[in-house]
Amino acid sequence: MHYQICVRCVMDTTDAEISFDESGVCSHCKSHEARVAQAPFSQSDAGEKLAALVARIKARAKGEYDCIIGLSGGVDSSYVAYQAIQLGLKPLAVHFDNGWNSELAVKNIERMVKKLNLDLITYVIDWEEFRDIQRSFFKANVIDIEMVTDHAIFAALFKLAKQHKIRYILSGTNVATESIMPKAWQHFKFDLLNLMAIQKKFGQLKVRSYPTISIWHMAWNKYMSGFQSVPILNYLPYKKEEAIATLKAELGWEYYGGKHYESLFTKYYQAHILPKKFGVDKRKVHLSDLIMNGEVTRELALKELEKPPYTESALASDREYICKKLGFSQVEHDAYLNASAVSHFDYPSYAKIAMALVKIYRKVQYN
Ligand SMILES: [Zn+2]
Repeated sequence: MHYQICVRCVMDTTDAEISFDESGVCSHCKSHEARVAQAPFSQSDAGEKLAALVARIKARAKGEYDCIIGLSGGVDSSYVAYQAIQLGLKPLAVHFDNGWNSELAVKNIERMVKKLNLDLITYVIDWEEFRDIQRSFFKANVIDIEMVTDHAIFAALFKLAKQHKIRYILSGTNVATESIMPKAWQHFKFDLLNLMAIQKKFGQLKVRSYPTISIWHMAWNKYMSGFQSVPILNYLPYKKEEAIATLKAELGWEYYGGKHYESLFTKYYQAHILPKKFGVDKRKVHLSDLIMNGEVTRELALKELEKPPYTESALASDREYICKKLGFSQVEHDAYLNASAVSHFDYPSYAKIAMALVKIYRKVQYN
């Protein structure tokens, strides 16, 4: 296949499924537009929609809190917490500690808890078990190692929501800055069958305390107890730069220089493992989303992409740290980086059925 890059964003044929129209605009630009057009904040009655949502969340509260928020210390989740307080909600904040959080992320959380007067639970995961599952994902050579974290965060939030009789998870997922994602660049995060199959094949420990949730369990809870994850930023005109400026000014929050770089592992994964082993540069999706959101010009994005994702010295020290923490030798890690990728679908998976269900769910989520 010959190389082609979109004339509007910076997505290119490193996504094998990308397509272009006759003027050279890509399929991701089109779907970004469609998803933004559908979102509540784009409607003429956006204000009423948000007010109705907030009223519903408050009215359905059964315990001390009316919603739960997963707080990573990153921009999106921090802004969700900030907005929740502005909207008069009573959130329970949960910070998931998987052993990889950067100091700055933890500092950001401490500042927010103080300034917003948040109640915070830190959910500390059993590191030995978590590490063993992360190691299994390396051994499986699958692309979405972050699934190990993302799945557990949602499952933990779900568990805590239940304990505290909370019906709403406020998530930082949003169409303005997170619409674009090639299918092959990540896996369905709730594919518990896939996760357990990989761990069974490559892991050394049994899964005991690592939080899990199946799609059947999620569906059951949604329909039986009205449990719901709400992408609240889709109800507001969300601009990343404005959110960062607000968080800095109001909460003394600090930026850590890169999407999801609040986690040391995520930084290494996105800036080194993905490009090196999988030929994927995730900066392309983040920058393309920002271009579509009117926050970055295509010229600036292209310049950004010319820079290496890592400086030489930071790469060397991060690589050493990551290998040591995960218990891989440098030789083992090199062999991993050079080994061919394996599809998640080469292991048992219910992602295809689940994705079909999610499509139906997406259609009804704003109703
Ligand atoms: Zn495009």
